[in-house]
Amino acid sequence: MTTERLDTGTTYRVSVDLNACDGVFACLVRDDRFVEADGGLVGFDLTDAVDPVERTADEVAATFRDGRIDEAQAAAAACPLDAITVEEREGEA
Ligand code: SF4
Repeated sequence: MTTERLDTGTTYRVSVDLNACDGVFACLVRDDRFVEADGGLVGFDLTDAVDPVERTADEVAATFRDGRIDEAQAAAAACPLDAITVEEREGEA
């Protein structure tokens, strides 16, 4: 059976605290899934996301399983305001 999506088995959720994010966009150069969104804060390019984006007044988040967790973690480390959280989700198919 073939799958259309590269599946490395690691599912992870990337979230941005919109109260902390200040639109510095250091994350964009580490991981091109981060994009500038309306209002000058950050959003996601969801081409490779496995779920629809989750957006509230306080947070924007997306879940991926695309083998690019290292890039998401690099973006999180680069954020001067510590606004990005990357969480592995084990046990999800
Ligand atoms: S680097 Fe941090 S503060 Fe800057 S846009 Fe990205 S999430 Fe927001």
